[in-house]
Amino acid sequence: MPNRSPVTSASPLIAPARLMSALPPISFDPWLRQTRWGGRRLETILRKPLERHGHYAESWEIADHSQKISEVTVGPLAGSNLRQLIRQEGRGILGRHAPRTRFPLLLKFLDANDWLSLQVHPNNQQAVRYSEADSGKTECWVVISAEPESEICCGLKKEIDRSAFESAVRSSNFDDVLHRYPVSAGDCIFVPAGILHAIGPGILLAEIQQQSDLTFRVHDWDYVDAQGKSRELHVTQAMACIDFDAGPVNPIRSVASAGSATAPEELVNCEFFRILRYTTAEEFNIPDDDQFRILMTLDGHAELSFDGGTSALTRGQTVLLPASCAGVKVVPGSPITMLKITLD
Ligand SMILES: [Zn+2]
Repeated sequence: MPNRSPVTSASPLIAPARLMSALPPISFDPWLRQTRWGGRRLETILRKPLERHGHYAESWEIADHSQKISEVTVGPLAGSNLRQLIRQEGRGILGRHAPRTRFPLLLKFLDANDWLSLQVHPNNQQAVRYSEADSGKTECWVVISAEPESEICCGLKKEIDRSAFESAVRSSNFDDVLHRYPVSAGDCIFVPAGILHAIGPGILLAEIQQQSDLTFRVHDWDYVDAQGKSRELHVTQAMACIDFDAGPVNPIRSVASAGSATAPEELVNCEFFRILRYTTAEEFNIPDDDQFRILMTLDGHAELSFDGGTSALTRGQTVLLPASCAGVKVVPGSPITMLKITLD
């Protein structure tokens, strides 16, 4: 059994150096963003503390970005933000991926209730032209819930080349060029930089991405705001970033679990992150591996036990396990679906 004495205890048996070297799991305050295309499912399904009114589109779970740096408000690290922690505890958090000045991944939940803009993100090489701070942006979506008619667009149809796409842009008619399909809970869509995409209405998903918000809009479905204004498009930049050789991108459909708690599904293993999915009611260990690990609870609830304590994880919660946090075990209190995200 792990030692359950609280890590904040003033016990003389625990030297301060020991407290510094083994960091506990870190939960950040979610940053809840309202937009016109948001809804209420961040609250009704993921139990985020929304204000009474408003359309909430995004919950930034872990961010180290110019728009938001995640803050810790509870536990022994309360009062720190992620960038300070990376500066002060870089080795303890990042392990073999230290040193870095910035946390490399951005984790969100997203609730879409209308079509999001048709957009593309640059890759790392392209990104330096547009931003000093932001990297390229490869992203991945894991659908938590979807309406029966919910659809996404991801990639271009096979036969669509640059000039066919340019004529679609000129006519603002994308019906014949986009690869579009229905999605349902459990689908995983991997969206490398350069892939044109749009998320449709009725979809709640977890988003795993590089630490970047560089987005180039090609089309906004003729949306105008209350003042009759449309949002800026970035067609020139988008045309420079779209990968016209990539073709359509299909979802990774959930593989029926064999019922083994020790065999998670590997959803994605790319140069920027690796995503495993646990779907189980049995307890399982999270290996140390000398790197940080992020757990996102998509369904169910569990107890997280680690050297030095325990904490609860419920649906909609995200936790950062520092590299120095050892002996981590997940004990489901109900069948759970959980993502584990690492750099490699
Ligand atoms: Zn995107």
